[in-house]
Amino acid sequence: MDGTGILKIGVSRFLYGKGVIQQLPDEILRYGSKAFMVGGKTTLPLVRGLVDTQMREKKIAVVWVIMDEPNSVDFAKRLAADAGKEKAEVIVAIGGGKCMDLCKVFSDLAGLPLITVPTSVATCAGASAVSIMYTKEEGRYDCSIPKEKEVDSVLADLDIIGKSPKRLFASGIMDSIAKLPEIVNGRKEMDYPEVTIYKYMAYTNSRFIYKFLTENGLKVYQNPEADERLLTDLVLINLIITSMVSGFSSGSDQLAVAHGLYDGTRMFFPEESKGALHGEIVAVGILMQMRFNGDPEEEYQNILSMMKEMNMPTKLKDIGVEPTEGNVAKLREYNIMKNNIVHEDDLKRLNLAFQEII
Ligand SMILES: [Zn+2]
Repeated sequence: MDGTGILKIGVSRFLYGKGVIQQLPDEILRYGSKAFMVGGKTTLPLVRGLVDTQMREKKIAVVWVIMDEPNSVDFAKRLAADAGKEKAEVIVAIGGGKCMDLCKVFSDLAGLPLITVPTSVATCAGASAVSIMYTKEEGRYDCSIPKEKEVDSVLADLDIIGKSPKRLFASGIMDSIAKLPEIVNGRKEMDYPEVTIYKYMAYTNSRFIYKFLTENGLKVYQNPEADERLLTDLVLINLIITSMVSGFSSGSDQLAVAHGLYDGTRMFFPEESKGALHGEIVAVGILMQMRFNGDPEEEYQNILSMMKEMNMPTKLKDIGVEPTEGNVAKLREYNIMKNNIVHEDDLKRLNLAFQEII
């Protein structure tokens, strides 16, 4: 590092609370009066039903777009062209991570501000400044694209999120838990000044995320709306604090083993793994990551039992990948390449890690 850098951490405005979706029309009016709203086939009509009347009363023109194909660069380009023709002034992304990632690229291409409305805790993509993109035809992992600047506004409605499917809670909780073992990624020493200030910030934040979620995650999963404070804090942790950790670690490091398994799975087995959510594949990766790190057995068992209680996949075949020698070799080679694993010891630990999920 030469002492210069650009940090893109956090969002301009993060609005959260019960019924906060009712503030969407006013939030849109901060940026313009014509909105391009993109969302999933269940989440877009859901949000539309909640705000349509107010939109009309406030004379906000809206183009509604259902996201019905993979989030590819090609799709983002077509949306940007349409938004230009329609003279849209602001983009609103509603739903999950793929929609958020698509709209971040769309927003940069169109030069328009972006509001995100995450409808579950399964993604920190609504508040992070990077997009993971897939190929148009097969939905195969394609590339990751940094955003020009931070997202303008995030609206996290606790009523909508509180009623989202349990499976999305499990997925989001494990994706955030992954941060700590991933930041450690086999390292023995995590103190400053032995590690960079970026790494240290990511490390201290992810320790709290891990502690909070291992202590409270299951409780929220079982009954999200029973304890409003816990739900609120889990939303803040998953949707904004986790994205800050990603922001701090993106400038300083390569991928780790758990997300390496995710990328490899989506790269080589896009069809087979279609039924598995991002956080579900990452969760299987956490089991690998913890073995790779040499974490204490008790800690490993704690995470494994938490996953089982949340009905999560724990093996490759559970995420659609047959654990044949050839398939495992592909995922292994990819992880070695992405993580720059060269030392004999590290290779041995990676093999042990794969044993866990076969
Ligand atoms: Zn993730």
